[in-house]
Amino acid sequence: MSGDVSEADCSEALHRVFEYLDGEMATEDHDKIAAHLAHCVECLRQYDMDTMVKALVKRSCQPEPAPARLRMMVVQSITSVEIRYQD
Ligand SMILES: [Zn+2]
Repeated sequence: MSGDVSEADCSEALHRVFEYLDGEMATEDHDKIAAHLAHCVECLRQYDMDTMVKALVKRSCQPEPAPARLRMMVVQSITSVEIRYQD
């Protein structure tokens, strides 16, 4: 890993991942998060999990229930995010 990924960038990227997913960001901010995700494995992993949560939420609006195993994974990932944010 190169040392040019600062913690501030990571916390900003993690806090704004949902905004990023929703496409509610200004182009400038969107590019900043996209650039960060491109070189930060840790944030990219979180982004993948949030994408999954979002897909599940969308799916839960449909009559077909989400598989219990996927739901458990999502609940676990949300719990781990909350623990992180409390640091
Ligand atoms: Zn990061």
